[in-house]
Amino acid sequence: MAKKRPKAAAAPALFEISARAERQALTRPFQHPAGAPLYRPLRIYTLDPSVSHRIGGVATVNVPYEDLEPGPTGSLFEIDTSGKPKALQGGPLDLDAPHLLMSGGHAPSPANGQFAPQMTYAVCSLTYAAFRRALGRDISWACETVDGQGRTRLVVRPFGLPNQRNAGYSREGGDLSFGYFRASAKPAGFTVSKGLVFTALSHDVIAHETTHALLDGLRSSFAVPTNPDVPAFHEGFADLVALFLHFSYPGVVEQAIRESRGAIARGSLLSDVAREFGYARSRGGKQVALRSAIDVDGVVAFDSDVPPNQVAGPVRYDATMEPHLLGSVLVSAVFEAFVTVVRRKGERLLRIAGLDPREVGQAQLSDALVRALAQEANDVAGRFLDICIRAIDYCPPVDIELGEYLRALVTADAELVDDDKWGYREALMRSFRRREIFPHHVQFMTEDAVRWQPPSKPLHIPGLAFSNLRFADDPGHPAGAAELRRQATALGTFISEPDHADCLRLLLPGRARPAGVTYASPPMIESIRCAKRVSPDGGVVFDLIAEITQSCTANVDGELVEYPSGCTLVIDPRGDVRYAIFKKPDSPNRPARQHAAMRGSLKRFWMKKGKKRVPRPNTLRLLHE
Ligand SMILES: [Zn+2]
Repeated sequence: MAKKRPKAAAAPALFEISARAERQALTRPFQHPAGAPLYRPLRIYTLDPSVSHRIGGVATVNVPYEDLEPGPTGSLFEIDTSGKPKALQGGPLDLDAPHLLMSGGHAPSPANGQFAPQMTYAVCSLTYAAFRRALGRDISWACETVDGQGRTRLVVRPFGLPNQRNAGYSREGGDLSFGYFRASAKPAGFTVSKGLVFTALSHDVIAHETTHALLDGLRSSFAVPTNPDVPAFHEGFADLVALFLHFSYPGVVEQAIRESRGAIARGSLLSDVAREFGYARSRGGKQVALRSAIDVDGVVAFDSDVPPNQVAGPVRYDATMEPHLLGSVLVSAVFEAFVTVVRRKGERLLRIAGLDPREVGQAQLSDALVRALAQEANDVAGRFLDICIRAIDYCPPVDIELGEYLRALVTADAELVDDDKWGYREALMRSFRRREIFPHHVQFMTEDAVRWQPPSKPLHIPGLAFSNLRFADDPGHPAGAAELRRQATALGTFISEPDHADCLRLLLPGRARPAGVTYASPPMIESIRCAKRVSPDGGVVFDLIAEITQSCTANVDGELVEYPSGCTLVIDPRGDVRYAIFKKPDSPNRPARQHAAMRGSLKRFWMKKGKKRVPRPNTLRLLHE
């Protein structure tokens, strides 16, 4: 009998595949059978119950249709009403009950215990639909809970936090929970003295929290606050989605334009609506909300040839700011670009109507003109929402900085819309510059300089060409977990070539590390996802978006600091890498900057474990405390 040969020492794995890579297959949205309706009309508050119907406070919205169980429970969300106060009536909500189908669901009312489930279901679904529309794929949840049929749903608890003026997303809990509390003795608006206030009835709170969950699914490492911009970005981005979604309801803007007689051209109108923006307001001088209002005072709509006024400028970027304040600098920057584009487009309509844009505000506007102006503002809001969401695919996988988000915004939009006729990108660059949010390593605030650059040499990954991919039915649905694993392995094999790893700034096990890096984990393939984006003129662009991360360790002032690096790849249908957006492992100041932040402004998000600091659990919920 032949003697067994001794086993060769196992070579170290050159890459790893994250459990996230296959998770894309666990979120399975409803598949439309032929003949099923496209939408389920449901009534919601476009702001919250404390605001009158004056600015279109109630709307009937078209929620993408799906089969529902009572709860309601659909394919993506499960509404759980535990914690409901005894004063409210009603069991699980059955939106398929005939009288509710006829009437667009329950009429908005805080007194009806079945309305908050309806409102949270509708707004969560609309927020999800906005992401699906912008990215052309289904977004998978980051939560690890899997039900009996092997799928992941996000649990939504409209009454989940009794006696709390708060709301939050938890990856660990797989849920969004909303608080309710008693108002003060002298509340403002329509709130009754000592009456119950539900955060689950605020459109913006629901959209904001759902966005935290979606962003966590897209970029899980953004839950690790490695620099002050990371939590600020999570907050600011969640506010931007809520704000633009809110502006996309026709009634909201139309009524405001009618009242202000078209002052849209001055740009102040949209700021006024934004000032009322959801929970970000103070009422009766007291802060009911989670935090202060976004900075709309510094917002001005400008024309490309007028230099920005530096005297009464907006709040500027300052890395020592608290995350929410820093996030509001981002919101204000994008919002200003939005106001600028609406003003440019609105002026054209006013001139067609024979009005001088400088003199509007006095004369009554015709109904047709009001509707046209509102439609324009709705369209621009929808376009900004798409731009903001698409840019996530162009962000580095870890350690985001606000200047990098600008680069992502400009690149993602320029990829899709060649001719920037109305100056969307120019307005964005200008308003970021006014707030001193500058991308590093960019010499000029011009589109060609701000756009991400292609990799330093051509990179071709044959295994990821579209001709080799398998989809379920549409490129937005992967064929299954096995196919996702095959794609991740193809990418891992590609980056295991030292030449490729060097080009992508990845450190391979067994090779020399740069000075100062004491350890580097093998590169981790986090995700590979398809993006299908439709441009305003109907063109369709397909890409694959891959995230690769790596954990490095460096010694800073005698303490070991574990910091993330990695890259995002944008791969075209032929398998060519068009962009490699990386965070270098050998950057001399990143470990030091993270070390300072962990002990300074971001201290509450970190805890000591042995010799290192590790992020506390539930960081995204901690953000709101
Ligand atoms: Zn938040």
